Amino acid sequence: MSDSSSFDEQQLRSDVIQAARAMWERGYVSGTVGNISARLGDTDRLVITPSGAPYASMQPEDLALCSLQCEHLAGEAGPSMELALHAAVYCARPDVGAIVHSHAVHASAIAVCGGEIPFLLDEMAYSIGPISIPTAAYAPSGTQELAEHVVAALGRERVAILMANHGTLAVAPDVAQAFAISELIERAAKIFILAKMIGEPKDLTQSNTRK
Ligand SMILES: [Zn+2]
Repeated sequence: MSDSSSFDEQQLRSDVIQAARAMWERGYVSGTVGNISARLGDTDRLVITPSGAPYASMQPEDLALCSLQCEHLAGEAGPSMELALHAAVYCARPDVGAIVHSHAVHASAIAVCGGEIPFLLDEMAYSIGPISIPTAAYAPSGTQELAEHVVAALGRERVAILMANHGTLAVAPDVAQAFAISELIERAAKIFILAKMIGEPKDLTQSNTRK
């Protein structure tokens, strides 16, 4: 079975499906867009949501098992069209164990403008860090160019970015954390848009209350 005891593939598959369902139920994706993956411990393999499959009926065994070299190793359905993006992020960031890519509406509205979500909410400091959420440059879905833009925007430490004219991307050591960051991106985006309607949102990076 596994060549590493540091992960449980069945558990990872369940975690991905649970997050995929939650992403769909919250309206962060519609139809079959968006995708979630998890790396199998420190191996060069990952499981990723399949291409063109509805979230409502997706099962753990439907996930595609792939290598970081983008080979489809197992799974009846093909991997998400964004496999190259996920693989590129794992190759660039050994600290990342899971990736959640959504098309959440409020965050996507900011991504359409090419803007950024400032460090607005106290709670952002604990999972995203006391920094803004920038927008990675645009490239069409499924291209190597998009993967490169996303890797560049994430840099060495970021866990949350927007993708120009597209959606959001959250990374973390595990699926639950990556999904929680994905939720926080959308929450911060919604609050930012609402706040701009009634005043001037205050960026906490300007605050001297934090070290
Ligand atoms: Zn997408």
